Amino acid sequence: MINPEVGRENEFDIKTDKPLNIAIIGGGPAGMSAAKYLAKKGHNVELYEKDNKIGGQLNAAKIPPHKDEIGRVIEYLKRDLKKYKVKIHLNKNITLNDIKEMPYDKFVIATGSKPGKIVLEMDVNSYNAIDVLYGNLPRGNDIAIIGGGLTGLETAEYLAKKGKNVTVFEAKDEVGEGIFPMIRKLLLNRLKNLNVNIFTKTVIKEISGGKILYSVNGAYKVLKVDDVVTAVGNLPDKEFTELTNDGRYYFIGDCKSVASAVEAIRDGAELSLII
Ligand SMILES: Cc1cc2nc3c(=O)[nH]c(=O)nc-3n(C[C@H](O)[C@H](O)[C@H](O)COP(=O)(O)OP(=O)(O)OC[C@H]3O[C@@H](n4cnc5c(N)ncnc54)[C@H](O)[C@@H]3O)c2cc1C
Repeated sequence: MINPEVGRENEFDIKTDKPLNIAIIGGGPAGMSAAKYLAKKGHNVELYEKDNKIGGQLNAAKIPPHKDEIGRVIEYLKRDLKKYKVKIHLNKNITLNDIKEMPYDKFVIATGSKPGKIVLEMDVNSYNAIDVLYGNLPRGNDIAIIGGGLTGLETAEYLAKKGKNVTVFEAKDEVGEGIFPMIRKLLLNRLKNLNVNIFTKTVIKEISGGKILYSVNGAYKVLKVDDVVTAVGNLPDKEFTELTNDGRYYFIGDCKSVASAVEAIRDGAELSLII
């Protein structure tokens, strides 16, 4: 994840003879990586982040059990941003109007993705998984997590370790789609040991009166629930979409296509091969 140069060191060992002024919008792994590699190549790079810290979703990714090491990626990239003299502007939410006025030669859009929402009326408290990881803990004991991707499963482990009775509902045949096989296996084993229930091929029909009504292969079932946590995947940020066909703007990371920090960091690094 942290070294996209591996095995292709010579490709990245280049200096520009035409330094440009480049603004990076978004300080997640994609934006940090682009800033690092473009500055290393000799461009003048400034990074704008709307939050009060850089790291993007990696700040949430480092919270579940066994994930603290991913936080070191932020520290590693931060050190390089300092080394290559990238100017960082925190608490700067850049809008479409702002960007059109900003005096740079090129812009890198790395504004990431936002959690998707489910359209389902419910009379229990509903939380977003990322907010839960940031500390907005459900108060009830019986927790239904809707969505069994990486975020849903890691949030399940996080809540189960806090003593909650957790059930994961997944519409697909299997949970953990796209997770690296060994990591998925270890995670599922840990969830089993924590007595997390995992229901696949489920369709949620209704959540009311402290119960969740769902169907599996056409058969209806009911489970008691206090709170619901949604983890139904992310959607790319669309703030700057209308600039897609303008050659001065480059889109990288989750805002181009939702994937992972591995892709985001590689995307950012590879941008330095073309600018
Ligand atoms: C719980 C969880 C666990 C994960 N675990 C892993 C894992 O183990 N391995 C892995 O590879 N990936 C993991 N991921 C996915 C990974 O974190 C994301 O794919 C990656 O962070 C995307 O990087 P990005 O830079 O494109 O976007 P983001 O990380 O979303 O960063 C975008 C940044 O842009 C800023 N921004 C947005 N709009 C503006 C604006 N208008 N002006 C200024 N700033 C703006 C945001 O505040 C944010 O800091 C996990 C994600 C989560 C939520």
